[in-house]
Amino acid sequence: MSLQIARGREAKPPLRTIRPRQDARPQLKEVTEATPAAAPAEKAALRFPVNPKTRAFYKTFWPGTSAVEWNDWRWQMRARIRTRDELARIFSLSADEFDAVTRHQGSLPVGITPYYASLMDLKDAREPLRRTHIMTGDEYVTTAGEDDDPLGEDHDMAAPGIVHRYPDRVLFLTTGTCSTYCRYCTRARVVGNPGGEYNFSTRQWEQALAYLEKHTEVRDVLLSGGDPLTLGDDKLDWLLGRLRAMKHIEFLRIGTKMPVVTPQRITKNLVAILKKHHPLWMSIHFTHPSELTDEVTESTARLADAGIPLGSQTVLMKGINDDVAIMKPLMQGLLKRRVRPYYLYQCDPIRGSAHFRTTVEKGLEIVEGLRGHTTGYATPIFAVDAPGGGGKIQLAPDFIVGRDGNDLLLKNFEGGIYRYPDPGGTLGANKSKLAAAE
Ligand code: SF4
Repeated sequence: MSLQIARGREAKPPLRTIRPRQDARPQLKEVTEATPAAAPAEKAALRFPVNPKTRAFYKTFWPGTSAVEWNDWRWQMRARIRTRDELARIFSLSADEFDAVTRHQGSLPVGITPYYASLMDLKDAREPLRRTHIMTGDEYVTTAGEDDDPLGEDHDMAAPGIVHRYPDRVLFLTTGTCSTYCRYCTRARVVGNPGGEYNFSTRQWEQALAYLEKHTEVRDVLLSGGDPLTLGDDKLDWLLGRLRAMKHIEFLRIGTKMPVVTPQRITKNLVAILKKHHPLWMSIHFTHPSELTDEVTESTARLADAGIPLGSQTVLMKGINDDVAIMKPLMQGLLKRRVRPYYLYQCDPIRGSAHFRTTVEKGLEIVEGLRGHTTGYATPIFAVDAPGGGGKIQLAPDFIVGRDGNDLLLKNFEGGIYRYPDPGGTLGANKSKLAAAE
């Protein structure tokens, strides 16, 4: 008997549209279907803080909207800013932004929730959050080494939506929808296909689940997309339940940006569902300290109170967050919200990303500027995801200076040199030889 049946749960997925597909590559589809408004009984659970800047913004641009609507994540999804004209109603678009948005076709469309737009500068096109969400002409410039699928995910697609690269864990792409679309997205090639419908394709999920049932070496499943939290509660509950019913899967993770860009998604009902499927961890995508609002304090508190270990992921980007003076308050602000800074990623070389990418040295400089200078927990792992499917490679500043006989010479965070007795070791010997030769 499956665990689901033992729990008395219906073993069928909550059905909506099912569109069978023949090809193995997942066709990630976009939400366009209007979801129903919240039932009155749910409305009490929608109460959420609204920070003063956001309140002023929505009174200006959505004057007839009630606080209950504003705090309903489904309203935020439906009201997303999706077109050039909607952008121009709110933002003073630069000529470059206006042209770039006009030119855009295909996946990774404009998509910004009203809440997230309220955090952006409406006049200054150089403001960091705005730069990461409103396209510019730089996006159409392809430079050497860029690719639509730089991480070779399509190559490692073992079943629809399942990227099986590492021995004991998989990435499960569950949906093509996000509540906001980041201009630097690694999956720019597949997310937000316009004209799609809310179609998670049960058939694809079933094929993915069949693969996982067979592959008992998989003990860790990372649900990503798109953003898995754009799925409705019933679908998410069903999917997590199916995964949890596989005894070899010890551990589930959700990769999401919704607690940051649509914090209203973290409803009490969602939290109750997530709690049923422990051990469940969450990796939350943060970019900049200006995201650390009262709303995000609430969304992360609800998740942490539900016993969900929270980690952050941040993409390092030129002129956005490539400065210790920006990264430190972000990392410290995350710790205050019980989110452990986890990964700082070098921006992947997707097509048209040169304007976001900075040097690897810059990432190391930021880690060096954090390590020792603030709480150890506030220092994320810096990693490059190797193009072509090599996986994540961790990089760290080098604190080994050389060797003097049995002593290893180490540099501390202030640049002081210290000896550590290390008899029998050879670490650092090469550096000493090199230094002597110079
Ligand atoms: S939320 Fe994640 S998957 Fe969606 S566009 Fe941003 S980076 Fe890509």
